[in-house]
Amino acid sequence: MKLKDITHISQETRERVYQRDSYDGWACCIYCGKPRGIEVHHFIERSRGGKGIEENLVCLCKGCHTKIHQGDTDLQNFIRSYLSEHYEGWNEESLIARKE
Ligand SMILES: [Zn+2]
Ligand SMILES: [Zn+2]
Repeated sequence: MKLKDITHISQETRERVYQRDSYDGWACCIYCGKPRGIEVHHFIERSRGGKGIEENLVCLCKGCHTKIHQGDTDLQNFIRSYLSEHYEGWNEESLIARKE
């Protein structure tokens, strides 16, 4: 499998992430709770080989999504604990695709 395919988010995975991060039936930003303009973010970025799997994805609003890509460390730490609380044995290393 190509790196591009591993980091890609399938429609099915996207739906599951929306559902996990929903409140009252709406996908919300996990950080500020806004239900509008939701985008799915790779915790480990695609450029670093971050996989397109639920364990590496979170719903963010446009504003928070911009902040995280500007390197907001509070937000990064928040996402890290959010994901590790949701998945038993969650491990950052396992989210990174390695080129064979
Ligand atoms: Zn937000
Ligand atoms: Zn992103």
